[in-house]
Amino acid sequence: QTVFVSGATGFIAQHIIKQLLDSNLYKVVGSVRNSVKADKVMRDFGNNTDLTLVIVEDLSNLDAFDSVFEKHGATFDYVLHTACPILSADNDFQKNLITPAINGSKNIFEATVKYAPNVKKFVQTSSYAAMRNPDANHNPNITVNEKSWGSLTLQEGLQNGWSAYFYAKTSAEREVWALHKSLNARFLLTVINPTFVFGPQCFDSSVSKTLNSSCEIINAIVHSKPSDPPQQDIKGNFIDVRDLARAQVQCITDDKLNGQRLLLSAGKYCWQLIANIINTEFPELRGKIAKGEKGGDKQVLNSFAKIDNHVTKELLGFEFTDLETSVTDTVQQILKVEATA
Ligand code: NDP
Repeated sequence: QTVFVSGATGFIAQHIIKQLLDSNLYKVVGSVRNSVKADKVMRDFGNNTDLTLVIVEDLSNLDAFDSVFEKHGATFDYVLHTACPILSADNDFQKNLITPAINGSKNIFEATVKYAPNVKKFVQTSSYAAMRNPDANHNPNITVNEKSWGSLTLQEGLQNGWSAYFYAKTSAEREVWALHKSLNARFLLTVINPTFVFGPQCFDSSVSKTLNSSCEIINAIVHSKPSDPPQQDIKGNFIDVRDLARAQVQCITDDKLNGQRLLLSAGKYCWQLIANIINTEFPELRGKIAKGEKGGDKQVLNSFAKIDNHVTKELLGFEFTDLETSVTDTVQQILKVEATA
């Protein structure tokens, strides 16, 4: 069976691809933006013959996936759409975030309907950002669950990069649910809405000075100065990347997940909690990095929306990795790579 995974250079996609290939049950076709990136991904996966890479240059193009799906679509059994920009290169949020998020989702879905008659399931990587508005980060009276939706208008979304991302993910997810209905798609749809994703990069070669946006929170503390103050605005919910990848793979085989929105959160994090873990688990860093204030986490952890994802947890049926493990594994990899640099 063959799984198409969009965005094969991505932090999350690489873990999904690794788990698919490690299972020896699947062949994977992954998309990357150019041949230089394809070469690196192939090298990282040890030139695994069950992995093929194809070029999809820019999600913004409304026919971005057409030629690839026209050519290979008949061989696909499952489509996992993960590719999406997270950060904007400049203040053109429409061009850099919103258009590629929406057009990319629209086009890959339409191309699946048109050119991939054997696909049984489409899994969209949406986000917790599609389930509430940014102000929920300052409102502890809100509880978000699998039925919750963000409601920003385009105008509100264009205020800053963070809001644009919320708007982009909400709109892209809405598009996919709407297309599933309006195109009468033969295949099933599951949407995964992860909170902040932590954990090691799939390959040490992906550890660079700056990490992908979610893991950069941890990386920045590893490279902080003792005098740096605690950052009260760094807070939220998290999931380990390996659990997220496992959930994505489970979507392929587990019929209970059909038609669901899965809200992936293992619990809360904040800057102080992560700093505590790093200072406790890595004595060699103590005194060299920020440590914040004792007890500084309590108030912060009670200052934002709560999550009720018991439905998701019951459906998936496995324990999520805790913050200590996720942060420790992330830091261990960073230090290992830096020690050999
Ligand atoms: P990465 O930035 O590591 O990966 C993003 C992927 O999308 C890369 O393969 C990237 O290609 C590709 N991409 C981005 N913009 C374009 C574009 N315009 N055209 C073609 N390809 C593009 O992010 P993650 O792995 O963290 O995120 C993957 C998915 O998970 C996204 O949909 C994101 O919204 C979602 N998500 C992530 C969370 C997190 O905390 N990390 C939380 C919730 C959801 P390239 O490498 O060439 O730039």
